Amino acid sequence: MADCLGAASRQLVATLGLDTRTARLETRVLAAFAWNVSPAWLIGHDTDPLADAHIAAFDALLVRRLAGEPVAYLTGTREFYGRPFHVSPDVLIPRPDTELLVELALARMPDDQAVDVLDLGTGSGCIAITLALERPLAHVTAVDRSAAALAIARRNADTLNARVEFLASDWFDTLAGRYFDLIVGNPPYVAVADPHLARGDVRFEPVSALAAGHDGLDDLRRLTRAARAHLRHGGTLLLEHGYDQADAVQALLRESGIPQPRSWADLAGILRVSGGELSE
Ligand code: GLN
Repeated sequence: MADCLGAASRQLVATLGLDTRTARLETRVLAAFAWNVSPAWLIGHDTDPLADAHIAAFDALLVRRLAGEPVAYLTGTREFYGRPFHVSPDVLIPRPDTELLVELALARMPDDQAVDVLDLGTGSGCIAITLALERPLAHVTAVDRSAAALAIARRNADTLNARVEFLASDWFDTLAGRYFDLIVGNPPYVAVADPHLARGDVRFEPVSALAAGHDGLDDLRRLTRAARAHLRHGGTLLLEHGYDQADAVQALLRESGIPQPRSWADLAGILRVSGGELSE
């Protein structure tokens, strides 16, 4: 087994340009999935001979990975905030960066109060479901305009036993008259011409969840303008954005009635979330 996995991880390095550590990790994740065992099991069975059927099952996945398909779409799952979320090419793969948005939201959700929270463009549901599970008293609503994404988010909520109200809505379009204490979102924010969209895993993700106009700010502009009509006085808006958009998003937040917006850095030190409170 060690030879087979070693060769596979060298191929991942050579073909996809992964670093050795990532390639080894991906190889183990794919092997564990192909053979329906845990990655820990692989360590203990390193010297086992492999049956032909096992080699074939692993090779089928490896060929797809070498063609660029993200590991999360091959295994159908990605962990977010310590829980497994089902994913497919209909939804963005949850990113660790987005855990910052979750932390900031949780810090504004007292665990003894029934706050109303809205997650815009929920995708896999990872943000809304995490908030609902971490704050059982909260009433969490999540919208997406994609029916396929909503089906995945609902499935994740069922599997993880989360209470979330899911609605088909293009941002706020079907939320007339609804008010929230906290609105969060990870909208598309990449510029359509950004070469990043043509590289790596991102190529296989829904472009509708990634790209937003010539400067990547189309959806952030729409959201900040519309949010005010759905926030209670003193309510908070928190939005994830691109590595160089903090100033632009802060300006949009000020225009939308949030007088003192702030930005927060992710683990890589990049200002990744901006937000603030609507004036009273
Ligand atoms: N952070 C993602 C990326 O750069 C983009 C996610 C998004 O547009 N919301 O791949």
